Amino acid sequence: MAESYHFDTLQIHAGAEPDPATGARQVPIYQTTAFVFKDAAHAARLFNLEEVGYIYSRLTNPTVAALAARVAALEGGAGAIGCSSGHAAQIMALFPLMGPGRNIVVSTRLYGGTITQFGQSIRRFGWSARFVDFDDLAAIEAAIDDDTRALFCESIANPGGYISDLDALAKVADKAGVPLIVDNTSASPYLCRPIDHGATLVVHSATKYLTGNGTVTGGIVVDSGRFDWSASGKFPSLSEPEPAYHGLKFHAALGPMAFTFHSIAVGLRDLGMTMNPQGAHYTLMGIETLSLRMARHVENARKVAEWLEKDPRVDFVTYAGLPSSPYHDRVARICPRGAGALFTFAVKGGYDACVRLVDNLKLFSHVANLGDTRSLVIHSASTTHRQLSEAQQVAAGAAPNLVRVSIGIEDARDIIADLDQALAAAQA
Ligand SMILES: *Cc1c(COP(=O)(O)O)cnc(C)c1O
Repeated sequence: MAESYHFDTLQIHAGAEPDPATGARQVPIYQTTAFVFKDAAHAARLFNLEEVGYIYSRLTNPTVAALAARVAALEGGAGAIGCSSGHAAQIMALFPLMGPGRNIVVSTRLYGGTITQFGQSIRRFGWSARFVDFDDLAAIEAAIDDDTRALFCESIANPGGYISDLDALAKVADKAGVPLIVDNTSASPYLCRPIDHGATLVVHSATKYLTGNGTVTGGIVVDSGRFDWSASGKFPSLSEPEPAYHGLKFHAALGPMAFTFHSIAVGLRDLGMTMNPQGAHYTLMGIETLSLRMARHVENARKVAEWLEKDPRVDFVTYAGLPSSPYHDRVARICPRGAGALFTFAVKGGYDACVRLVDNLKLFSHVANLGDTRSLVIHSASTTHRQLSEAQQVAAGAAPNLVRVSIGIEDARDIIADLDQALAAAQA
């Protein structure tokens, strides 16, 4: 796909030629487990990674590959891997980099499930995460040690819609010789392209804006292809003979595609966190309208945030698109097309008023999700961030008096009217 095409063209065409077998214009759902080898020599070349082709759908599948290529193009990456969920994508991004005793330095402002995944579950692999305020670069540097293998943050961060200073974070990562991994779920590549700001890897929950309508659970890892995996000796799975793949030196053999091929040939092969072709098809459909949806999400979010900020029943609104936000000056640099559609606001009356507000909203759906065409609401402290202590909730931007909204693409007047009547009920 010509590099020169603009975003709106790439979101429809990248990764998808008319089907070579039938001429089908839309990407078919290749609902097949295995692919027939031409002969034994062909099979050997595929298994040796000397020729790129399809073997078995746990590794690669043409529908999933079309989606991966499209997201790689939109993010400006060298390659991408389709995964079974956003959380699978996070494990897949870390897998080639990590080993027992290794750690990652991560932002405190993350999706609640990610805080649990990194804070608890990855310890079973002998990995650990150090949670740091990512606005404090000195604290990040202090947390990095010889066992650190990556920095991890969200571009537009949960739940408050804070903007991470990706350029500054990439410099810290570069100095330490480790990759910066950015979860770009809440921004989508239309609003933010982390690789342009120095990120090495980008992860997505395709469940959210990429698909856009709440039908799919999926994830993507995009590799910039720019990290020198051999420079430090810290990434032996990529730079040294990989015992899990008959001693292949992935970086030497595959250059900028080393991470992508390792993730398929070893990661998907052995962890099996594979995206299914039907899910990939839905996400391909969703991405065709990504820019149109994101523009409307941003327009509505700005209107709703401005209205809420003026309302006396609301203490404050965290939307970075508002001039009152401490993150406002980062919008033009990091996500120039807008600050997304995810933010929190503080309801007068605290925890109880938040619960009443959520119970009285009619147009909004009360769900643990974001990035749907529909407006969504959640009271993080009683749901997604429930497992955290109150101190962790506050550090994560999910204090008990905060409600998180994901503003949809309905008519903004209807969204505001719904909030108006529910705020009245919350104060009653
Ligand atoms: C939803 C989400 C995830 C996890 O994705 P799943 O597809 O639910 O596994 C990770 N990060 C962010 C920012 C998310 O919104």
